[in-house]
Parts: sequence; structure tokens; C-alpha cells
Amino acid sequence: MGREAERLAIHGGCPVRQQPWPKWPRADECTEGALLDVLHCGRWTISGMYPGTELFERRFARAFAEFNGARYCVPTTSGTAALTIALEALNVGSGDEVLVPGVTWVACASAVANLGAVPVLTDVEPQTLCMSVDAAKSAINERTRAILLVHLYCSIADLDGFLALSRDSGIPLLEDCAQAHGAVFRGKRVGTFGRLGTFSFQDSKVMTSGEGGAVITDDENLYLQLQQFRADGRAYRQASPTPGHPELEEIGDVQGRNLCLSEFQAAILLDRLGHLEEENRTREANAEYLRGLLSNIGGITSLLRRDGVHATTYYQFCVRLDLSTFGNANIEEIRQALMGELRVFCEPVDEPLNDNRLYNPLASPQKFSPSLREALKPSRFHLPVATTASRECLTLPHKVLLGDRADVEDVAEAFAKIKGYFRSHQAQRGPER
Ligand SMILES: *Cc1c(COP(=O)(O)O)cnc(C)c1O
Repeated sequence: MGREAERLAIHGGCPVRQQPWPKWPRADECTEGALLDVLHCGRWTISGMYPGTELFERRFARAFAEFNGARYCVPTTSGTAALTIALEALNVGSGDEVLVPGVTWVACASAVANLGAVPVLTDVEPQTLCMSVDAAKSAINERTRAILLVHLYCSIADLDGFLALSRDSGIPLLEDCAQAHGAVFRGKRVGTFGRLGTFSFQDSKVMTSGEGGAVITDDENLYLQLQQFRADGRAYRQASPTPGHPELEEIGDVQGRNLCLSEFQAAILLDRLGHLEEENRTREANAEYLRGLLSNIGGITSLLRRDGVHATTYYQFCVRLDLSTFGNANIEEIRQALMGELRVFCEPVDEPLNDNRLYNPLASPQKFSPSLREALKPSRFHLPVATTASRECLTLPHKVLLGDRADVEDVAEAFAKIKGYFRSHQAQRGPER
């Protein structure tokens, strides 16, 4: 019997994948020990009293800065909080414009809009889904305050192009590395190319404490401001804090908020950071193998690994399908079939932000002046490349890459089965849509 005769799992056939996938998030006895240390030491947050020993939060910040090759790191409650204080440190405020890629997680745009600034939705490159330098060039004007560059899914943005653009225009680059922890471009970690780099440690990311985030920078001034933005105007500044007294010093140069990572989360992150490099290597090796298997099937293209990328992070494995080779099925039908075969949740590519149900900056229009309201309208932006990508691409979660070669062979087999099915049922499906 040929493949085309096989019934899809969603129609009651036998799923390709029988075993469970590797677990995510991960933890071991060391993670557990670190959590118990925090539990019993009596210091659960950085704004508590100095216990006489170094906090996990400070140890993690130092280790994460060092891992990335940055001078400073400020941990936060989330990636959104990291973006928010990074934008505040760059002085982004009401009426300013920030270039944001047209396809990315909604927080990139909402963090900007929540500061009263305008996310200028900028189209992406078809082969990487990261912001296009050409589109960015034509979107820049005298109100542009920052370029928020995202390394999306498993791609690294055009850092050469954006560094040149930033230099020529004087507009600072902010790298959102929420999906790229540990990726290396031309020998340097991503997040260290821009003035600031931000990270998320939310559950789905490749390094997690459930929730959490961080900002890295080499700039001492920005570092002092970032600390205050995230701790109600307080910062670490005392050379030798007194045990039993607050470790943070009240400074108040800026209007801050409380966006502090708890000691429990910091303890988990410090422990898991020790595994990041090895997990990234496993994901990358499996992904490279999978790329080859998928290209043999035909009609499936992986995102481009651009020149200069020495190591990439597979947050989600994203592929673009030539739908004509899948019997002109639509991407949603294919995604449903794939989830049936693999028994794992596969996310669609983020909806373009000019038409994304989660991005609704005008839900509270009274927050903005009439001219800002006009500027914030998502539908005023044209994102043809992002829109096409949302109709042709889908993603797989990184845990399918955390096992061995046999695991990714199942992924390839599922694609082959689905392709065979949709090709042979094309005739019954009626005319192309
Ligand atoms: C996850 C993510 C964020 C937001 O991080 P949270 O920790 O969920 O607030 C921001 N940007 C990108 C690109 C992300 O993937």
C-alpha cells in the first residue's frame, strides 16, 4: 500500500508518533535543591533584607551577563517587563515611534503602545521572517526613537544591515532575544549587538523559570536606570550592605515599578543556565538533520540560516510549505493533520500585527490623543510578506528537537504522510482556493 492510501490520524488512522516527546520544562535534583535553598534561607526577593550572602538573583544576573559576553544584566518578571524597561531606558515615550517587526509575539508591539509610543509595524524578510532592513529604512522618520529587532523562531535577523542602519541614522537598536538565548553571530552572542538585549524565560522558551525576563547591556548608565525602572527607583549600589537591612538603595532618578524576579525563579534560572548550551546543541543537531529529511520530501523549506550565524537557537522549528505540492490544502488543515500525526501542539506563525486578534491598542481609546489614535491603527500598515508567511508557514515546538534522530524522523514521516494524503485527495477537494 502506498503512502497516499494511508488514513490520517485526524480521520481515525494510526498516528505516526507513538511515543511521548521529551518533557519540557526540565528540572533535576539540582534544580530542586536550589529551590529548597531559597525556601529555607528566608530571603525570597531582592527587595527583602540583606541576608549576608549573595542573592540568587545577583548570581544569575552575573552568570547570564557573562554567558552572553555583556557587562550587565537586570532580571525582570517577564520578557514584556524587560522590553518595557529597555524602551524606558532608551527614553521612548508618548508620540515616539519604534520600528517593530510585522510578525512577532504581540508583546513587542503592546509594550511600545503601553508606553504611549507608536509601534511602526515593519515588514519582514521572506526567508527568515525577521525585520527587513529595506522596509525599516523606508519606515524611519524624525520621530523614530528605536528599532526593536526580533530574532524570530530559529532565525537571526540581519545584524550587519541593522547595525549599519543604526550607525547611519543614530537610532539605537534593541534586540529582542526572547526566542534566541545563546545564538551566536560572527562570534558574538545575540543581544550584545544592540544597545540593549532582552530575553524572556516564560515556559515555552528555551530557558525557563515559568515566567521571567532579563535585559543585558554594556552601558553602565543604562544599567543604573534599568535597575531603578524595575525596582521602584531602587538599585544595588552599596559596596557592603548591612545584614538585616535592605540591600537595594533608594535612588529615585526615574519613576519605576516593581518588576523584580523572585529568588525562586532566579534559583531555577541559575541552575538551568548550566544546561542551555548543551540543550541548544542537541536542538540544533536534530534540526539540521530534520532540515535534510524535509528537503528530500520536497515542497517544504526551512527558514534560512544566514551567513555569519555560528550557532542558532531553535525556539520553534518553522517551515514554509509550497501548498501546491500539498494538493492546495490550506495551512490550517495541514497544521491540524500534523498535530494529529505527531500528537504535539504546533503553533501557527504569529498573525501579522496589522491583523492580529491579540494586538488591539485602541481597545481603550481614551488613553490616547486623537492623532495618536490614528497613528496606532494597526490596519494602516501594509505587511504583504508577513501576511503571506502566515498562510504558508507553521512551527513545531522545540521539545521535538530535544530527543534523538529517531524522533525527528517521525516528524519527517508525518510530513510525508500528510503530503501524500492531500495530494491524492486533491481531486475530491474541488477547485483551488
Ligand atoms: C515571549 C516573547 C516576548 C514576551 O515575553 P513574556 O515573558 O511572555 O512577557 C517578547 N518577545 C518575543 C519575541 C517573545 O517570543
